[in-house]
Amino acid sequence: MTAPVPTAISPRIAAIAESATLRVDAKAKALAAAGRPVVSYAAGEPDFDTPAHIVEAAVAAAHDPRNHHYTAAVGLPELREAIAAKTLRDSGLQVAPSQVIVTNGGKHAVYQTIQTLVGEGDEVVIPSPYWVTYPEVVKLAGGVPVAVFAGADADYKVTVEQLEAARTPRTTVLLFVSPSNPTGAVYSPDETRAIGEWALEHGIWVVTDEIYQNLVYDGVRAVSIVEAVPQLAEQAVLVNGVAKTYAMTGWRVGWMVGPAPVIKGAADLQSHLSSNVSNVAQRAAIAALNGPMQPMEAMRQAFDRRRRAIVAGLNAIPGFRTPTPQGAFYVYPDVTALLGREWAGVTPRTTLELADLLLERCEVAVVPGEAFGPSGYLRFSYALGDDALAEGVRRLAAFFAA
Ligand code: PMP
Repeated sequence: MTAPVPTAISPRIAAIAESATLRVDAKAKALAAAGRPVVSYAAGEPDFDTPAHIVEAAVAAAHDPRNHHYTAAVGLPELREAIAAKTLRDSGLQVAPSQVIVTNGGKHAVYQTIQTLVGEGDEVVIPSPYWVTYPEVVKLAGGVPVAVFAGADADYKVTVEQLEAARTPRTTVLLFVSPSNPTGAVYSPDETRAIGEWALEHGIWVVTDEIYQNLVYDGVRAVSIVEAVPQLAEQAVLVNGVAKTYAMTGWRVGWMVGPAPVIKGAADLQSHLSSNVSNVAQRAAIAALNGPMQPMEAMRQAFDRRRRAIVAGLNAIPGFRTPTPQGAFYVYPDVTALLGREWAGVTPRTTLELADLLLERCEVAVVPGEAFGPSGYLRFSYALGDDALAEGVRRLAAFFAA
């Protein structure tokens, strides 16, 4: 007699929620594949191709046999050096290359950082609306995500008072992200400093996700929390990557920067999990970080133009309350005024239902607020072509005018 085939998967994996952004994206792509003219604001990635000089570096790297074999799990020395230089340049923090570990994208860096810092039952404070991945990653580490919500009237930025109200003896980590996905909110230097000082005072680690730090507008700078509060460096981990700034989402290169014991712990984990990131992709990342910034500046200017267009377009539709974000490539209107009313014979009560309605009737794909925290909001990515962007807004204006 053979034992029955086990049917259960582990409770930790069973508890993970499917990524709602990927689900909407898949639905939109299925409709588009069926020939429907979908305008998708759902994707969280630049629509530009990777700049040519970066691609050239990768082609050369593929021809070089040195890149055909395993390298150190923590990353190529030249890339760790380039990341240390970038960290000083953009985050105002002096680090040794040994404080850097190269990961398979920013997402891997977030996962690995939380696995390294968070123990069973530890509480992680997560400002909400939050990036879908954060709470799931905390739960996978046995930690407890504690969401702290700030709405449109607060420009989606939490205050120290709110953080303090959420703090308990089990609070070990604050997840800080500025500019934010999904809201595009950028904390001012003063706001950042106040939050950093709060974390320092209470011995709370800060994981600062800086993946959108170069995508800022209106002349603002997203000051790193470790630049605002330098003493925090001993209890902070910086997460970053090439995906958004350099239009390199498919290349999968990110990193963690932090105190030596944390990087050692993460390196031990990575040595069993994934080993080194593709050497070809790492060489491309070196070219990105050390190369000219002009192509990236052109992309940033295009995003800025689209940002202005979409904010103006959405705010002209009654029921949309859209703060003007200063970073990333998302806008996050509060649409609670549209809920509970009849539109084309349907009365959506939640933004999940509203997003479904918009996809069905307008062929416009947006991600509902439920993916990022409370219902009542929609996330629009404006990393799509100017014409498609304008067409989607026209459809929404016509739909809600009817
Ligand atoms: N952090 C945030 C806030 C993000 O929005 C993303 C991408 N959606 C990432 C990290 C990870 O990016 P990647 O894994 O593509 O480097």
